[in-house]
Amino acid sequence: MAIAPNMTSVPSRAPAVVATGPVGSPLGTGRVRLTGGLLHDWQRRNRVATVPHVVREVRQAGNLDNFRRLQDPSVGDYRGRYPFLDTDVYKTLEGVAYELARDPADAEEAEALAVAREFYEESVALIERTQRADGYLGTFYQSPQSAKRPWQDLSWGHEMYNLGHLAQAAVAASRQLGDRRLLDVASRFADLVVERYGPDGEQAYCGHPEVEMALVELARETGDGRYLEQARLFVERRGAGTLEHTIFAADYFQDAVPLRELGSVTGHAVRMVYLAAGATDVALETGDDALVAHLEHLWDDMVARKSYLTGGIGSRHSDEAFGDRFELPAERAYAETCAAIGTVQWGWRLFLATGRADVLDHVERVLHNAYAVGLSEDGAAFFYDNPLQRRPDHEQRSGAEKDGEPLRRAWFGCPCCPPNVVRWMSELQDHLAVADDDSLTVALYASAAIDSPALGVDVTTDLPWDGRVTVRVRRAPDRPVTLALRIPAWADGATATVDGEPVAERPADGWLRLTRTWTPGRTVVLDLPMPVRAVTAHPHLDAARGTAAVLRGPLVYCVEQQDAAAPVDDLLLSPEDVARLAVDHDHPWRVLRGDLAVAPPTSDDPYPPLGATAPATHRAPVALVPYALWGNREVGAMRVFLRLS
Ligand SMILES: [Zn+2]
Repeated sequence: MAIAPNMTSVPSRAPAVVATGPVGSPLGTGRVRLTGGLLHDWQRRNRVATVPHVVREVRQAGNLDNFRRLQDPSVGDYRGRYPFLDTDVYKTLEGVAYELARDPADAEEAEALAVAREFYEESVALIERTQRADGYLGTFYQSPQSAKRPWQDLSWGHEMYNLGHLAQAAVAASRQLGDRRLLDVASRFADLVVERYGPDGEQAYCGHPEVEMALVELARETGDGRYLEQARLFVERRGAGTLEHTIFAADYFQDAVPLRELGSVTGHAVRMVYLAAGATDVALETGDDALVAHLEHLWDDMVARKSYLTGGIGSRHSDEAFGDRFELPAERAYAETCAAIGTVQWGWRLFLATGRADVLDHVERVLHNAYAVGLSEDGAAFFYDNPLQRRPDHEQRSGAEKDGEPLRRAWFGCPCCPPNVVRWMSELQDHLAVADDDSLTVALYASAAIDSPALGVDVTTDLPWDGRVTVRVRRAPDRPVTLALRIPAWADGATATVDGEPVAERPADGWLRLTRTWTPGRTVVLDLPMPVRAVTAHPHLDAARGTAAVLRGPLVYCVEQQDAAAPVDDLLLSPEDVARLAVDHDHPWRVLRGDLAVAPPTSDDPYPPLGATAPATHRAPVALVPYALWGNREVGAMRVFLRLS
């Protein structure tokens, strides 16, 4: 299939991913608007708290000064250690472009948007002025003091990674604001890359995938097929072993074998899912069904054997990488926040390519757990790594958690995650629905006004707290149109009515498809049961077998020490106790309340004889909180997985 042909006619009104798959296309700017509920609250927090915070931190960290100093040497030396710090500016700009496209709801939002606008204008002007005449842009290597020359170190230089985030910011600014200044800059840089690394150029690629999906998006936005072809070349070339690898093996860069021969997701987790997202984009645009099928295989393997219960990925701290299959230690989970975002990006594209509801189930899990946990409740502190357990004597020296700062931090020396959180929060609405002329498919549930070509509907729901979803038709043609609603795998026994009458249709492949000649006012009510439930771990998942974890709907729960009247390590979980856990609907976090058996260790022997057990001695009241919200109060021990009784 060709580059989405409708793009050139509506350049400022297209969503993040516009390719047409079996279930249609995403809708576009202003076509889906969050109107209430959790995701709406998240987006407001992003606008009034996280964006101003990240803008302040980016300024203080010197990321803008790195551009400024190339015009004014008196600004000082390059700030920061890494060659990819320009991307913190680009990722923030991407999110800011979305925020500036929406009208402020009140004075607080207007004030925050003024901060965002000032950052936007200042940054765009600096970026335009800093680009070299040949199109190159990267403040690290442009510095006269740089010990390396541009393109000298493709393994660690991150130069095309920089281009990728620049291009994504540029596409967002063009689509959301109709501002093509960054698009011109990104296109010139991309032209240089095409000239240098095109079909007849150097057969090389960047150590950190990211530019692949950005080039596809740039192709969609500009209509220039060379960028799509360049993305395809980068995907196909990878695995030739051309990247120098002195610290980590070729595997780390997904450079040991071609993507099409990769048996399982491997290496640095963020690199892997960014590459897979880009490859899925290429496959969507080129109609490469074999590539889609292989990407499905990689996705399924990742979900089944290399993902935490939260949807987090990457268990190894040393190289931020996937471990072996079932190597998923809870307290040493790396599960970088950026890797969760990359998983959502890949999953969304794979859904577009396949229409698979179960892919969205996993995207939903990542969104509400592995991604959401990365940000504090006040919107101004971040996790880099996201463990599923914290021991009572935990020392703050693992992963990015150091310097004596507890839990989430305001910023990092390698601050990839915070601006990534910003841009993803701003784009949530683009991932709720897809449509074609004859159908509207609701992919993820949130209260929203949705305007597809055929149907205008208002979705109202309290998910993930409550499983009722109401879809009220606002606009419909005088002909049959299909409204497809995802029935998540966690919603066993889901029911639906239209205008109060039970529907005859049954869900198939995770979708309830209702074909009607709809009229304004008709209302579909979907009830997704959300009982408290528990899961155990696969017998090969050594780190968690013999334990169980509590879930409700898409949410994973955990116990923080302050909510348990016994050490969290001594709590036992039984099916009967899970069944008795009660949802506290008056609590904003919908905590689960109950009491659990307590079994303290009976000896200090770390390896008691086979057959020795620690019996339960008493029971203790406990409240479980959504994992995404842990660490927002007093710092203490935490567990997702509890011992089985
Ligand atoms: Zn990160």
